[in-house]
Amino acid sequence: MSQSLSRILVLIVGVGLVAAGCARQPAADRAADFSDRKMRVVATTNIIGDLVRQVAGDRVALTTLMGPGVDPHLYKASEGDVQRMAEADVVLYNGLDLEGKMTEVFEQMARRQITTVALADDAVPDSLRIASAEYVGNHDPHVWFDVALWARVTRHVGEVLAQKDTAHADLYRSNAEAYVQRLDSLDRYVTAQAKRVPAAQRVLITSHDAFSYFGRAYAFDVRGLQGISTSSEAGAGDVQALADFVVERRIPALFVETSVSPRGIQAVREAVRAKGFEVRVGGTLYGDALGDAGTPEGTYVGAVRHNIDTIVQGLLREPI
Ligand SMILES: [Zn+2]
Repeated sequence: MSQSLSRILVLIVGVGLVAAGCARQPAADRAADFSDRKMRVVATTNIIGDLVRQVAGDRVALTTLMGPGVDPHLYKASEGDVQRMAEADVVLYNGLDLEGKMTEVFEQMARRQITTVALADDAVPDSLRIASAEYVGNHDPHVWFDVALWARVTRHVGEVLAQKDTAHADLYRSNAEAYVQRLDSLDRYVTAQAKRVPAAQRVLITSHDAFSYFGRAYAFDVRGLQGISTSSEAGAGDVQALADFVVERRIPALFVETSVSPRGIQAVREAVRAKGFEVRVGGTLYGDALGDAGTPEGTYVGAVRHNIDTIVQGLLREPI
């Protein structure tokens, strides 16, 4: 094919696409027909994947990109991931820059008219977000640590699926409501357990600053060794400052996270020891990823229960 002919063809196809784009609503706002196949949903983290399962059951074909122990701040989409997203009807991600290295891919999917939804951006209003200490104008993305906020996200997922697959709208909405009830009772459980720890001792020290929403919801003073994102490493100064804080407040336990290397927290423990005080590692918390599928901690409800039980036992010096 001559160069000029191919140029003309590109031009014709381009004009055709523009015309089609003008003539109809973006796919994100349109319902689709899923009478002959399941709606294909891609979730980024397994926290979001679990939520889709709770709301949609087996009604949708679900792909979860990140498994147990995977850090979403550092995760880059593989070629296979991009392919799965490109073939999806709906892509659900946390947003508020949690999946910081995937922003461009999400934009690409939205341009392809795939329903691409940043759940925390949409479901958590500005007034309920916590500002990022690191980046002015940004918000902390870890909204799921406040169970009441996750209930909001749940309703939003129900609504997104209901609007896309209208034939099963009632199912998604009623499943979402039933799950919100479970989350309400989980929220009461976390609150009750937290109150077992005297207010002055409610200090939670973890690998990275993921627990600010948890701290606000359940009245804990929260310190992370690394910042809100794990993409910058903690320095020796950070370790010393945190060690001083531990000694000063006589904090009995530090906590590591499944999705972050435990080295930083171990360094704090050593630094505390060098100052003549002993602090133990109170256990491992599910931070930015749930546990293995098929275990209780492979669900959001199970992971949240594990976290609060571990935190309370650690701070009350109960046997682990
Ligand atoms: Zn995080």
